[in-house]
Amino acid sequence: MNTQLGHCPQTGTQGKMVDGATVKSMLAVSLRAVQDVQYFFCCDADCSVVYFSEDGQHLFHVNDVRERVYQKEPDNPDVPICYCFRHTPKEIKRELEVNGGADVIADIEAGIQAGQCACDWRNPQGDCCLGNVRRFIKQAATSG
Ligand SMILES: [Zn+2]
Repeated sequence: MNTQLGHCPQTGTQGKMVDGATVKSMLAVSLRAVQDVQYFFCCDADCSVVYFSEDGQHLFHVNDVRERVYQKEPDNPDVPICYCFRHTPKEIKRELEVNGGADVIADIEAGIQAGQCACDWRNPQGDCCLGNVRRFIKQAATSG
């Protein structure tokens, strides 16, 4: 059986499975620390754990990762939401003010179409950022 979700040993947060390749490409520390286990991603902003194994024995924290992690700093305007095309909350908010537009979605979609995205290797969560970007735009639009 293949479990899709794990529970962060620090917060109990449900985390999605991430590919071993994602963990390896995101780590700043020696990859000798990577174990042959399934890793999961903790998206809890109040938790320092980024990747964990279900048994809680193997953890990587925010300081072990090469990128600042959007989910861990949702209020930081300079931490990218979209890692492939480098869109930040600051930039997206500015765009929303200037043209009310979601040009950013069009840009990401065009990039995906052109095969230029690499979410598995560049986004700490290991998959596409579009859901996060859409959610962010919706929230920014409603909160003014
Ligand atoms: Zn956690």
